[in-house]
Amino acid sequence: MNGLFRLGSESETYFTRRRGEAEKNGVRILIAEDEPHLSRQLASALTDAGYAVDCALDGERADFLGATESYDAVVLDLGLPKMDGLTILRRWRDAGLSMPVLVLTARDSWHEKVRGIDGGADDYVAKPFQMEEVLARLRALIRRASGQVSPELRAGAVVLDPRNARVTRDGVVVKLTSHEFRVLSYLMHHRGRVVPQSELTEHIYAQDFDRDSNTVEVFIARLRRKLGASFIETVRGLGYRIEADR
Ligand code: CA
Repeated sequence: MNGLFRLGSESETYFTRRRGEAEKNGVRILIAEDEPHLSRQLASALTDAGYAVDCALDGERADFLGATESYDAVVLDLGLPKMDGLTILRRWRDAGLSMPVLVLTARDSWHEKVRGIDGGADDYVAKPFQMEEVLARLRALIRRASGQVSPELRAGAVVLDPRNARVTRDGVVVKLTSHEFRVLSYLMHHRGRVVPQSELTEHIYAQDFDRDSNTVEVFIARLRRKLGASFIETVRGLGYRIEADR
């Protein structure tokens, strides 16, 4: 299954691409784009960048996934079949969903950009775009959404750089597996807060992954061995926390 496109069981218009080794950012993204080739290109680039990626090829599917799953950011094409992007965006914002949304607009369509921003989009990229620009804008949106100014995440002696998926402790590079990295990245993005195990599980796997919450404990144990026993605190019955001001 790794590295392959997989058709979802309920609809052929939905697929998820995952590549285990690349899933390391602890960040989950929904791509809503009806043009299959472009959708695949985006999914491929975002997966390679270390994100867990779900794809919706029509507006109804996008609307449903955005409203029922937890995403750290959405790439939303405005021209979608069944339900257009602006309608979806308004429905999400009306429902109080605040995840960052990067809108894809037609080239030179300034009124689309204006309507997108008015409709609650956080940023936009005009088609055709350079993939690097989409990646850079997504990184900035995700960073801002988690209250970060610097791209590097710091907690005590540990520094995580999402640009190259690198973790150091006292300046020494720490080798992590993809899932260890994803767990650490999510906790670092939300440091100071107690993150329930269920939330962690939800954010480190793509939708079609066989989620096993027990494995989170295994990843936490391994991270403690590599980063120090007290680095990740267990708040009994509630979840895990990395202190904000270490
Ligand atoms: Ca379209």
